[in-house]
Amino acid sequence: MIPVNVPLLNGNEKKYLEECIDSGWISSEGPFVSRFENEFSKYVGKDYGIAVSNGSAALDVAIKALNFEKGSEVICPTFTIISPVQSLISQGLVPVLVDSNEDTWNMDVHQIEAKITSKTKAILVVHIYGLPVDMNPILQLAKKYNLKIIEDAAEMHGQTYNGKKCGAFGDVSIFSFYPNKHITTGEGGMILTSDANIAERCKKLRNLCFEKERRFVHKEIGWNYRMTNMQAALGVAQLEQIDTIIQRKRAIGKKYNEHFSNKIDLHLPLAQTEYAENIYWVYGLIAKTEEQSVRVQKKLGELKIGTRPFFWCMHEQPVFNNLGFFNSNKFPVAEKLARNGFYIPSGLGITNTQIDEVAENLIKIIANG
Ligand SMILES: *Cc1c(COP(=O)(O)O)cnc(C)c1O
Repeated sequence: MIPVNVPLLNGNEKKYLEECIDSGWISSEGPFVSRFENEFSKYVGKDYGIAVSNGSAALDVAIKALNFEKGSEVICPTFTIISPVQSLISQGLVPVLVDSNEDTWNMDVHQIEAKITSKTKAILVVHIYGLPVDMNPILQLAKKYNLKIIEDAAEMHGQTYNGKKCGAFGDVSIFSFYPNKHITTGEGGMILTSDANIAERCKKLRNLCFEKERRFVHKEIGWNYRMTNMQAALGVAQLEQIDTIIQRKRAIGKKYNEHFSNKIDLHLPLAQTEYAENIYWVYGLIAKTEEQSVRVQKKLGELKIGTRPFFWCMHEQPVFNNLGFFNSNKFPVAEKLARNGFYIPSGLGITNTQIDEVAENLIKIIANG
């Protein structure tokens, strides 16, 4: 079996975990948590890091920390994981969706301005699959219309846009450390900001909104989204290896590209744009039709090669449609990505021999129609 993702934990992960156990520090009060927050925020280039239990939790906290009035609009892509849109809707905010760019699969930044109204408060950027969103037009719009930027960089550890780290652009930014992300803590997430007040608010929201004056007296509802010392221990060990991790992910992507170019006529991931080189969070391909995508995935599965379909668009989510959202929306580019796209094994634990095996089988399957 070649699973779609196998993580690699061959640095100081075990040593730091043993430190947690030997010292008895296993809760969120342990020293690895603030160490991970400091080291990761410094790495990205933000003043504050607030570690939480996962990336979706980070979005809940980051969005709530901005204190938007109920009914405020936030512009975001329809082609994304559900987490950001779920956070908005569950907090009484209104997501306004944007279609995707055909080549980068990120939100089409040229469609944003037309969607800005007097109720718009923020642009929620989600960098997709390894290439960043084109940030300059978004930064200009944010300035022109006085909008906040919420940056979902859950798939972008170590990626840069014009030389500046992804996650450094948002008023609040978030990362996930799920095992298929470039660095992992098992489950985990982090909010980054350079605003001291937002950071303070995020800390409070992650910890049940305990007040300083009298413990167990609460003025607001928060969550228990704390990260454990053991998760943070993994994070510190992983962050030590980030450069080699990015290098390896790029090498995996490049190896697939070399196999596929001129051999199959599926749409491959863009190796680079003028502002970034792909870090291949996943290695995605776009089939000619939905039928071809399903068939290829099924055949790879029979050969014990794991695949996943692409995200499903937010405007076609039954859960949101049933709540009355997005029912008349149509986004042809994103709909095609969702239907025809799939990704193949590209986790850090994959060997070069396995990459060759996946690629050769995929080429054979496509050649046989
Ligand atoms: C993985 C991911 C998340 C959610 O992170 P979890 O840790 O799985 O909750 C959010 N946004 C994007 C873009 C992601 O890829």
